[in-house]
Amino acid sequence: MPSVFTHEFNTPAYKGKVSFDTGIFINGKFVDGSDRTTIDVINPSESTGKVITAVSEATPKDVDTAVDVAQKAFDTVWGLNCPGTRRSILLGNFARLLEENADELAALESLDNGKTFHWARNADVAASIDCIRYYAGWADKISGQVQETSEAKLTYTRHEPIGVVGQIIPWNFPLLMLAWKLGPALATGNSIVLKPSEFTPLTAIRVCHLINEAGFPPGVVNILTGYGNTVGNAISHHMKIEKIAFTGSTLVGRKVMEASSKSNLKDVTLELGGKSPSIIFDDADLDQAVKWAAFGIFWNHGQTCCAGSRIFVQEGIYDEFLKRFTEKARSIKVGDPFHPQTGQGPQVSGIQFNRIMGYIQSGKEAGAKVETGGERHGTEGYFIQPTIFTNTSPDMKIVQEEIFGPVGVVIKFKDEDDVVRHANDTFYGLAAAVFTPNLNRAIRTAHRLKAGTAWVNCINQFDSSVPFGGFKQSGIGREMGEYALHHYTAIKSVHINLGIKL
Ligand code: NAD
Repeated sequence: MPSVFTHEFNTPAYKGKVSFDTGIFINGKFVDGSDRTTIDVINPSESTGKVITAVSEATPKDVDTAVDVAQKAFDTVWGLNCPGTRRSILLGNFARLLEENADELAALESLDNGKTFHWARNADVAASIDCIRYYAGWADKISGQVQETSEAKLTYTRHEPIGVVGQIIPWNFPLLMLAWKLGPALATGNSIVLKPSEFTPLTAIRVCHLINEAGFPPGVVNILTGYGNTVGNAISHHMKIEKIAFTGSTLVGRKVMEASSKSNLKDVTLELGGKSPSIIFDDADLDQAVKWAAFGIFWNHGQTCCAGSRIFVQEGIYDEFLKRFTEKARSIKVGDPFHPQTGQGPQVSGIQFNRIMGYIQSGKEAGAKVETGGERHGTEGYFIQPTIFTNTSPDMKIVQEEIFGPVGVVIKFKDEDDVVRHANDTFYGLAAAVFTPNLNRAIRTAHRLKAGTAWVNCINQFDSSVPFGGFKQSGIGREMGEYALHHYTAIKSVHINLGIKL
């Protein structure tokens, strides 16, 4: 039988007991995986990752079961059998329940992922509520068009739900990535088989209870905790899943796309990694630029797909910027994610911790200079000092590859052409930020950068109504906004003969 997860929070930020059934969520019920095996969930703040609980591990067989129930729900009570107004009400209920349980969800996210409670509550959970509410507003506004082709014909398009969609998400924003996936898929009437990251399943499981409470018919949302190479692989290859939305690394994104091409050519959207530039021109407001650049790389412990990990600074202010930026990095309090003063908690797992420390080592060996950080923080848990490298060259791994940790490189540049060339010298293209009060230069540079999102005098800004996604190898398709709806509808053209004779 699936187990009950119970945890007593007694932290400065949140106090309270949580207790809920766990298991894989199929047809509105929590069940064991078909092999009855489990996955350990760890607390990254504690020594070598203390086990918090174990959750059921789904198998490819469970994916088959979930797809069948999702298809049945789609054919009977969901899809176009459920009016948009009803879907809107259910999504609205879901948003309200997320809001009512916001503190608990934030606490679970901090416990499981290690992110600070402050940001979990004010970014992850708040933006998840906003996202679901935004798509609740869309659910009764999905419509095709009538084409005025001729008096002899009535022609129109229908934006039909696709059917059963597969969704695979990462661990860096567990709840928010879930919201970005569920919102547009449910608004358009699809049923879902979703796999959260094996590292951070807790908020996804808690959300399953809210899905039931919100009134979604059983089978519409199925959430399977499991590993990528089993459950993720089975979803990607599944012949009855017509669309897959994946968020994660570029490496695995390739596998998902390959699986689609080798199975049923399912439609694929990919939200992948990045190595985003933050560009600070001589005339920027230095105080603000330092704060935003630090927010760009150190927010969420650097585990942000669009992290501003390459910080380009124009030569006239380089020395002063570096001095202040280094001071800012040193001032970030690393430690307990539930402490109100903490700016940076632990990295999510031992694997990530070792990976990031490996990158830091490679930077040192390649001859880059550590301006600050460069070591583990403390002796317990997966904490890493906020780290800044200078004296890098464009071919270094720390300049080219996504580190996904609190590690930034600061690079001096001469002029606009110089920085645009270097900033675009990456196979990623997720986001970029430009700092200057000169509007012409800001807009010109933002337009020249090859990135799906360009921020001017700010960074890490998102809005449910604004699309997000990557150029180049940072992804295919867009999440959020009206754009995301297009990925979850199949367009059918209908021609009705009003008088054409053969
Ligand atoms: P990951 O690619 O290792 O895993 C992502 C998901 O894919 C997990 O659920 C994992 O279990 C699953 N998976 C692993 N192997 C699989 C396989 N063979 N087939 C199918 N699924 C498989 O990524 P991660 O480490 O969880 O997350 C970090 C990455 O996600 C970073 O590269 C980051 O930039 C990216 N990311 C991108 C965005 C965006 O919007 N562009 C947002 C968040 C994270």
